[in-house]
Amino acid sequence: MTEPAVSPSATAQEAWRILLVDDEPTQRLIMARLLKRAGYSVEMAGNGREALTKIAAGDFQLMITDWEMPEMDGIALCRELRSLEGKEGKAYIYTILLTARDAIEHVVTGLQSGADDYLTKPVIEPELMARLSTGKRIVTLERSLRAEREQNRRLSITDPLTSAYNRRYLTEQLPREIERAARYGREADDLLTAMHEVIGHGSGKLSDRLKGGSEPYLKEYFSTLEEARADLMALWNVWDPELKKLGLANDQENVARTMYDSQARVALTQLRRIPRGDTISEDHARDRALIVNYIKDKTGAIEFIRNNGKTYVHVKDYQKMREGAGMLLRELMRIKAEGDYAAAKTLVDQYGVHFDPNLRDEVVARYRQLNLPTYWAGVNTELTADFDDKGNVKTVRIGYPRDAVKQYLAYGQMYRH
Ligand SMILES: [Zn+2]
Repeated sequence: MTEPAVSPSATAQEAWRILLVDDEPTQRLIMARLLKRAGYSVEMAGNGREALTKIAAGDFQLMITDWEMPEMDGIALCRELRSLEGKEGKAYIYTILLTARDAIEHVVTGLQSGADDYLTKPVIEPELMARLSTGKRIVTLERSLRAEREQNRRLSITDPLTSAYNRRYLTEQLPREIERAARYGREADDLLTAMHEVIGHGSGKLSDRLKGGSEPYLKEYFSTLEEARADLMALWNVWDPELKKLGLANDQENVARTMYDSQARVALTQLRRIPRGDTISEDHARDRALIVNYIKDKTGAIEFIRNNGKTYVHVKDYQKMREGAGMLLRELMRIKAEGDYAAAKTLVDQYGVHFDPNLRDEVVARYRQLNLPTYWAGVNTELTADFDDKGNVKTVRIGYPRDAVKQYLAYGQMYRH
């Protein structure tokens, strides 16, 4: 069992941390001395902006802020703080607003901006201490609730023994992923292919030593590396804001996630094409295994979940997966540029070649129920031109052959040398 993130007892032993915000240096110092004497640990800021910078860097439980300040006043600070807590899930900071204004509408404005309490100047010491005690009670309660909620969330989606995502995860998360794939799968696929071919294979530079290309250096690993490089260029660049500007991805976040899901899963699904043995030989298949196994191993962003005798592939963290893709891309670029055969061999042999035959058997059995073809091939139309006496094209006849084998053999014949 893991400890909650913040335990109330721990905060009681340490000094409570207060951020004191006031533009008036003398006021600030007097107040700080008073708070320190009462056992608080105090940091100071001269206006709202400065306070937000300190909040971003530190972990405060309490804040006392003046209302009128230059640049950003106490009201704006309270509003900004509450919106940050909402968006970023930062721990709650109990806030007391200080001011000379005591009309009822000022009190209302102050509290509506997100302050928890309101004190008018001049501050009376015992009153301030009593109000801070209230703050401490609220913060302790808030933090223990937060820790408990986090604990519950973890327990509800993970197996208590292995802390792997369990069945509940599968019933809640998987349908969402399927829906996203149905909606964005085609777009994500097309984008991957386009980026693979256009910016993938075309990318990179070679060192001077490799004038004739890196193929003679990388030998039997060249093609796997080249295909992986092309896929990784797509995976890395799919999050680039330029894509949106160019109108190539409307809902970029969803398209990118869909692309990552299917790229991660293909390491599993492609096994159905290898009915025998326990090694991969086709270069595209090696490339995909290399990418998935590398990212899984180096970043933990991808995980394989077992449930009810079935294996599922789950992307735990998309940005981490992107980091992993970037790491591997950088290394493959280097390997290609320098023709580093030994490094290519090590990477591909470790991540791109071997698989668990039991897993393959499971995949093959699951696919058998779907009765889908293992491979798809397109049959092209056949265009035949009729010429006149001068050799100009008169008409073009279009034919729709049905025999794929015949067509592919004919293509093979065309490129024989
Ligand atoms: Zn390719």
